[in-house]
Amino acid sequence: MARVSLSRLEAVYLVELHKMADGGRTGTSALAARFGVREASVVDVVKRLEEKGLVVREPWRSISLTRRGESLAEQLIHNHRVIETYFHRVLNLPAQLACSEAQKLDSILSWRTIASMCRALNHPKTCIHGEEIKHYKRCR
Ligand SMILES: [Zn+2]
Ligand SMILES: [Zn+2]
Repeated sequence: MARVSLSRLEAVYLVELHKMADGGRTGTSALAARFGVREASVVDVVKRLEEKGLVVREPWRSISLTRRGESLAEQLIHNHRVIETYFHRVLNLPAQLACSEAQKLDSILSWRTIASMCRALNHPKTCIHGEEIKHYKRCR
């Protein structure tokens, strides 16, 4: 998959949409409520995600992720969980800090770096929050 560059906010929204929709649909108002922001600002970010081919906006303000959007969201979740686990286990950062630092990096670091972290951790099954980590062939 060609690399799509996402702003921090776009990455956060994409992952949240993926989690909220869970294979179905969700809407801009649910997303706005989730982040405590105005719907207009959500629509703005969602439009940018649509321009990048990651989501499709449908009638009644519902949003669905494209296959490309789904797979990018899953990749971001993998990266987040690997980075925070690395920070926590290897660098001994407290869990909460490890998580917030990972959030700054999960859409930025290259696969090469992520894969090195993943190997150093021996491909952990769960992250520091106990959530499952699904690995890729490229992590190996
Ligand atoms: Zn986290
Ligand atoms: Zn991995």
